Amino acid sequence: MIMADVAAAAGRTPAERLARMVRCRTVTQPEGGDPGEFRRLHAVLEEDYPLVHRHLERTRVRGESLLYRWPGRGPDPAARPTVLMAHQDVVEATGPWGRPPFDGVVADGMVHGRGAIDDKGCLCAILEAVESLLAEGAAPASDLYLAFSHNEETMGDGAPALVRFLEERGVRPALVLDEGGAIVEGLFPGVRGRVAVIGTTEKGYLNLQFVARSAGGHASAPPRRTPLGRLSELVRRVERRPPFRPRLNPVVRRMFHDLAPAMAGPLRWLFGPLWLTGPLVGRLLAAMGGEARAMVVTTCAFTMAQGSGAPNVLPEEASMTANLRVAVHETVAEVLARMERLAKPLDLTCRVLHAHEPAPVSPADGEAYDRILAALRTVHPDVTPVPYAMIAATDAHRFCALSSHVYRLSPFELDRELRKGVHGLDERLPAAALEKAVAWYRALIAIS
Ligand SMILES: [Zn+2]
Repeated sequence: MIMADVAAAAGRTPAERLARMVRCRTVTQPEGGDPGEFRRLHAVLEEDYPLVHRHLERTRVRGESLLYRWPGRGPDPAARPTVLMAHQDVVEATGPWGRPPFDGVVADGMVHGRGAIDDKGCLCAILEAVESLLAEGAAPASDLYLAFSHNEETMGDGAPALVRFLEERGVRPALVLDEGGAIVEGLFPGVRGRVAVIGTTEKGYLNLQFVARSAGGHASAPPRRTPLGRLSELVRRVERRPPFRPRLNPVVRRMFHDLAPAMAGPLRWLFGPLWLTGPLVGRLLAAMGGEARAMVVTTCAFTMAQGSGAPNVLPEEASMTANLRVAVHETVAEVLARMERLAKPLDLTCRVLHAHEPAPVSPADGEAYDRILAALRTVHPDVTPVPYAMIAATDAHRFCALSSHVYRLSPFELDRELRKGVHGLDERLPAAALEKAVAWYRALIAIS
């Protein structure tokens, strides 16, 4: 590292450094991303975080995934390490964006572009925190690992390879922290003030393909029941009478328990005595639809369909693909069995394309969770922290093989409008939210 680079990096603000990351088009597709763009991103990281690259060991895993190790200062050499995670890849950005999504512009106090929140926001905040601590001559008490996978959005091989690498070295982290919940307002009607939602688990994931076969033939003399008709019948049944029951599982119960102090009077009467009102609340949330429903029930969304190649040809084989998110109170096998029972009378075969179980639940108390809360108190003293079950999938569930303390929080203050930018249009992050996230990671690293 030459001194000119150090000076150039020091001349930029955290928001400008995040904007430079956004300019690298590290988009992953199922067939993989452009390695050149990942190399560009790595060069930006080296240039903007010279102390990180001087003092931490860096290993490339699976080509583009990165693992950094910051050796702990002791005194206890057996102290268990901390892993901070973020992913380098982003989803595609199409549609009518207000600004080009990969220009990485800082304007109106915001960093604009794909990945500004998800997840280059976390990537940047983690590196900012470590760089600034290094500049002060600080070191963590126990080893700190930074694990940055390169294909989270496609559930690729980066995170599993990082986990294997750590496993082979006997690393058993006391705390693993990945993206996930955020510091939000107006998440539930009737809840006052801001709430930090901390993912202690995440739903399971199941992609199923249903296939209908027939003799095919000309569309001018169709049989009474066509393959697409049978598949549509399945969709209609699942959507009219969802086969999965809502349940107020222990994670959701604990969330409402911790949320109760921030609730307005009448709501506290409903959500306070959940031992009494639990079944009612479960049905209420299910009836609310959207994210509230997704918290308490396994969901099924049909997302892809295929028939024949021509308008006048009956398909010999037609298929539909469903994406199911398995609630933490169920298993993949139970969900699969129920879907197969629905498919069988319609003479549909069911193929599992991808499946993983809901993640084990990390405790919402104890040393690791308390570290997260203590860092929150330092930076956001007025926020109510609550555990929750993430409805989306992250790389974090892979790390449950290494630790029973895996948490999911993107430590940004995000209102509803900003949250819409994640995987949506006009993703952007206020520079002030980025700087508070840096302070939060600094506090978390210091408390170890
Ligand atoms: Zn993400």
